[in-house]
Amino acid sequence: MRPHTGLRALFLLAAPLLLVGAEFALTPAVSATLDEIAADSLKGHVSFLASDVLQGRDTPSPGLEIAGEYIASQFRAAGLELGGKDGYFEPARFITMKPDYSGMRLVFEIGGQTFQPAPDSVSIGRTLRGLDIENAPLVKATIGEPLGDVAGKVVITELPDFGSYAAEERAKLMASMREFSRNVARAKPAAIILLVRREPPRNLNPRLVDPGDPSLADPITLQVYDPGLRKAWETMQGGTATLKLPPPAQEPVMLRNVIGILPGSDPVLKNTYVIVSAHYDHVGVRASGEDRVFNGANDNASGTAAMIEIARAFSKMRVKPKRSLVFIAYFGEEKGLFGSRYYARNPSVPLNQTVANINLEQLGRTDDNDGPEVAGATLTGFDYSEIGLIFAEAGKLTGVRVYKNEKKSDAFFARSDNQALADVGVPAHTFLVVYEFPDYHRPGDEWHKLDYANMAKVVRTAALGVLMIANNPEPPKWNEANPKAAPYLKAWKERKGN
Ligand SMILES: [Zn+2]
Repeated sequence: MRPHTGLRALFLLAAPLLLVGAEFALTPAVSATLDEIAADSLKGHVSFLASDVLQGRDTPSPGLEIAGEYIASQFRAAGLELGGKDGYFEPARFITMKPDYSGMRLVFEIGGQTFQPAPDSVSIGRTLRGLDIENAPLVKATIGEPLGDVAGKVVITELPDFGSYAAEERAKLMASMREFSRNVARAKPAAIILLVRREPPRNLNPRLVDPGDPSLADPITLQVYDPGLRKAWETMQGGTATLKLPPPAQEPVMLRNVIGILPGSDPVLKNTYVIVSAHYDHVGVRASGEDRVFNGANDNASGTAAMIEIARAFSKMRVKPKRSLVFIAYFGEEKGLFGSRYYARNPSVPLNQTVANINLEQLGRTDDNDGPEVAGATLTGFDYSEIGLIFAEAGKLTGVRVYKNEKKSDAFFARSDNQALADVGVPAHTFLVVYEFPDYHRPGDEWHKLDYANMAKVVRTAALGVLMIANNPEPPKWNEANPKAAPYLKAWKERKGN
């Protein structure tokens, strides 16, 4: 019998750590490895990656290509093994889509009234298809309530105004929204209409689409702003919809994750892997203004630089870590975790043998919006797995307080590339210093604003945490006592079952 008490959970988590801690006195060899991680080297990488020349590393863009070449050159200098299909590069065929609003026609008939929303009050979701629907039945749905038989029909519902709710209520609403989206996609309607309260963004710029994304088979979603239609929706019994939409204009684009491998030193454990990752893209440039470039120094040249330095430090060890380390720089995080989702579907090493993912983000700034964060670091989903406590242990040895941010740790779990690996069952977290900082996603996120001495200390902590996982014969586990980790534990079990 296994009692489900907090105490038992604590015990479960603490037991393997005693082992880890005991094994990990800082030997001179480990100390020398950590000392390889230097403030000036970090500054060198960040100042290049975040320079104006790279134009904010948008996905796709020439600046992103240059950043990718730089990362590959650093992997080459460290002597890492090639981890992609094209040397250090793992090419991914993507498509950019541009909706054709000019050829769009929407007609809704409800209770004798006709609504024809103008194209500039409609936003088209990601799709590679068009719509050609004539007088299909229109079915009212309400988020949080059961969905009837909607196959082949057009579903119309109201998108909640998330911004008007307090955090807790909003989280609940978003969860039921996600469930609604899953249910409605399964029910195979002809299309989904989301009524919104203000003009939706027009998406006139080409948008990135992963042609291998299974959700592309889901029904097309249109956000529609039409106060009259929304009013009619409130009391509607039924109706019809005619939806005409030409397929979007499409252009192929080649994107690249950058992947290098440091083979492990243990004859058995070297066939298992720890992924150390960071996204190397950012959000590009804005159309006007004195400073047009979003440099993305802290987000996420800092994580990329940290990954490079950790790879370099470990490559110099005489006896390498026992498990193999996979270093990955992802494209397209800012556009929706594209690089990491692509990797999870096309991994370089078997996911079944991948025991953990430490994803690195926002490690250089210490001016968190909630107050200064010096000699401190945190993980998202801190107690979803044993990794949080392993890193806390590492921090004790390097003088960095690694802690759970009660307000933000869980809320930010889905906000970076660790999510893609967690979804396929790999214990995966993002390690970071600040969650939100004054220049976040602004042109002012520049390299000279980072505290590199503090960053070196924090990156040494990350390296030590990775080493503790890589050298421990017991892989870290999802926390069975935490219900928030349940979907990931389930994915892990399903994968192990195969
Ligand atoms: Zn980021």
